[in-house]
Amino acid sequence: MRKQIVAGNWKMNNDLPETEDLILSLKKQVKTSNAEVMIAPCFVNLYHAYEALRHQDIEVAAQNMHYATNGAFTGEVSADMLASVGIKTVILGHSERRAYFNESDEDLAKKVDTALNKKMRAIFCFGEELADRKSNNHEKVVEERIKNGLFHLPNEAWKSIVLAYEPVWAIGTGETASPEQAQEMHAFIRKTLANKYGNDIADEVSILYGGSVKPNNAKEIFSKPDVDGGLIGGASLNAEDFYAIVNAF
Ligand code: PGA
Repeated sequence: MRKQIVAGNWKMNNDLPETEDLILSLKKQVKTSNAEVMIAPCFVNLYHAYEALRHQDIEVAAQNMHYATNGAFTGEVSADMLASVGIKTVILGHSERRAYFNESDEDLAKKVDTALNKKMRAIFCFGEELADRKSNNHEKVVEERIKNGLFHLPNEAWKSIVLAYEPVWAIGTGETASPEQAQEMHAFIRKTLANKYGNDIADEVSILYGGSVKPNNAKEIFSKPDVDGGLIGGASLNAEDFYAIVNAF
């Protein structure tokens, strides 16, 4: 059975007091679904969040990391640093990292390798721009991102990979892919994996949808057979909204 996962990507939001407040509110929520729950605060608050959630059913993940193990990379954070504060999962290749920080497929392939070498789980993000969809190139773009970032991996690596399909035009815009558009792309992603790695592996990989998932649309999106959860931005900054999404399964 594939894992259902709902991960909150806090992005560059919440200083320490706000992190403490939101975590307190999250602890008051009741989970009625089987989904794995995760939050990804900014680097400086990871250790605090990890400590505050130590015995809770909420994992703390990082939003990014460098591919090098250590050294002269001013301003960067390594996998070992994350591991040393309890982090076991890292989001890689978010469209904002690709667009504003020029992360290439090549960089991301290296980041994935480092994460897996360090026994971390990677949530690998990709998605098409609006122009790609309008020109009917969305599948081609998505296929390329997956091939370039992940197809060098051996079969056993897929146990530690979660995919997140995030159409760029739906992130933070209030615009969502319709549940049908999400299902169509998720099925295409799974087929792309199956063609390379076989059905057994493709069927086990969780594929999350991201892009303006809210309490009022989560249920319909999560009801689609190839949608295994969500990567939630804006709505993860409010505990009630986030748990309404977690409980939409
Ligand atoms: P959003 O962000 O839910 O605010 O659209 C999703 C994401 O960027 O992961």
